[in-house]
Amino acid sequence: MGAASAADHEHPETQGDPETGTRTVRRNPNARAQRMGCDICVVGSGAAGISAALEAAKLGRKVVLVDGLPSLGGQAVNSIIGTYCGLYSNGTHGYQFTHGIADDILRDLGAQDKALFYRHGPITTVVYYDEIALSRWVETNVEKAGITVLLGAIMRNVERDGRRIKSLELVTRYGDVIVEATGFVDATGDAALAFQAGFECRESAGHPVYGTQMVVVENIDEEAHPTRDEMRLRMEEKGDEYGLLRRNAVSFVIPGRRIAALNMTHTETPLEPLAMSKSALSGKNQADLAVRFLREQFPACFRQAKVRAYGMPGIRQTRWIAGRHQLTLDEVRSGHRHHDAIGRTAWPVELHDTDKGYVWQSFPPEHVHYVPLGSLIPHEGDNLIAAGRCIDADLAALSSVRVMGPCMAMGAAAAHALDLAGSGSVNQIDIGSLQKRLSDNLDRQDAPWEIRV
Ligand SMILES: Cc1cc2nc3c(=O)[nH]c(=O)nc-3n(C[C@H](O)[C@H](O)[C@H](O)COP(=O)(O)OP(=O)(O)OC[C@H]3O[C@@H](n4cnc5c(N)ncnc54)[C@H](O)[C@@H]3O)c2cc1C
Repeated sequence: MGAASAADHEHPETQGDPETGTRTVRRNPNARAQRMGCDICVVGSGAAGISAALEAAKLGRKVVLVDGLPSLGGQAVNSIIGTYCGLYSNGTHGYQFTHGIADDILRDLGAQDKALFYRHGPITTVVYYDEIALSRWVETNVEKAGITVLLGAIMRNVERDGRRIKSLELVTRYGDVIVEATGFVDATGDAALAFQAGFECRESAGHPVYGTQMVVVENIDEEAHPTRDEMRLRMEEKGDEYGLLRRNAVSFVIPGRRIAALNMTHTETPLEPLAMSKSALSGKNQADLAVRFLREQFPACFRQAKVRAYGMPGIRQTRWIAGRHQLTLDEVRSGHRHHDAIGRTAWPVELHDTDKGYVWQSFPPEHVHYVPLGSLIPHEGDNLIAAGRCIDADLAALSSVRVMGPCMAMGAAAAHALDLAGSGSVNQIDIGSLQKRLSDNLDRQDAPWEIRV
């Protein structure tokens, strides 16, 4: 399928004036959308979407990767999330749960100066990363893989033929584009593709799940950094005085860089354009108050701290697919291994369901819980798979499996499931064959001493 010619998008009325170096143009009212075709179209380029796109390209599939932002990387890069969680089993030196692109990222960023830092314990191993290094990793690897990228593109319409998605109509600043594909991955975080396609989706029925405005401050004194408990206690004591909404804060520091990524606010993330825009601004106000609090309450560390970057609004849980299976808190707690498991984690339940704090329930060292394929497949579709924070789970279960370790595992599973389905249905693939391909993310247990420190 060829792209439409440039004449469809612009309508020069003159060939150009050599004296002024300009030409006159007018929009062509009959301009047609540019069309493109591929095997697998991935919408959303966060941890899940990037994993899906790179894995599908590795399988030899022609991939188009779409994102509504003008840059790749989703929240991992643009919201400055700052740490990979859920990637290791519990204990201070657990084994790695998810491989694939996680191995490549750990290897490549690990080889750079101060781009990664492993924090072992108290519950598990968490990997702090430099978001700029990650953003360049994503961009260069997507390019190397030969993936066609469409940025700043928002879905206006999804064309469906019964249970199959046929194409997406996308709006960009530079004109409309239609992408046709054999299979689709909804890695939008908000189940935007499934919702636009008219499939059933789920939202929280009661209280909202709060997001966070992340902020990076520079010029800190790392040696004087307060402990988490010290920060929490001081926020409880002085929070009202400073107008802080949230009481339990987290600050991530990669040693030797004199910067900290602060996770200190709670903001609502409504699926309504005006309310969401308002919330984006109030989140920054909250972040400023938090920085003032740190400067004044912990001057030894933060006296000279200056905001270096505000992330894009961090969104935890909004809307997700109605899948063939809804992952439940009981399954998470019991470590139930589903017959169609595709990924695993041991990350605690981390439900940000009040403005002041969140539910935090961790698991014992040997605990593992699983993500089933059924939670990735909308029950009304045949060629659409969700990956990342918009899979089907109850509120508490989702709060555990939406961290980036399992998100990457889900992306890989989505690519393999669509590859196996070809022009058939993802509901009819052989689960044994899929799990064989995903065995590293299900059963591999490297000896703990192989973990880099
Ligand atoms: C503040 C905060 C702190 C967190 N801390 C951690 C942590 O420390 N460690 C950890 O592992 N996890 C953490 N999480 C969870 C984790 O970051 C997210 O759940 C995860 O990054 C989600 O990845 P994703 O690929 O599913 O979606 P996202 O990263 O949200 O990517 C979705 C992409 O889809 C695009 N998109 C959305 N709608 C459309 C549309 N209609 N058209 C086109 N494109 C669209 C978006 O632009 C975006 O790029 C945190 C989350 C938040 C909000």
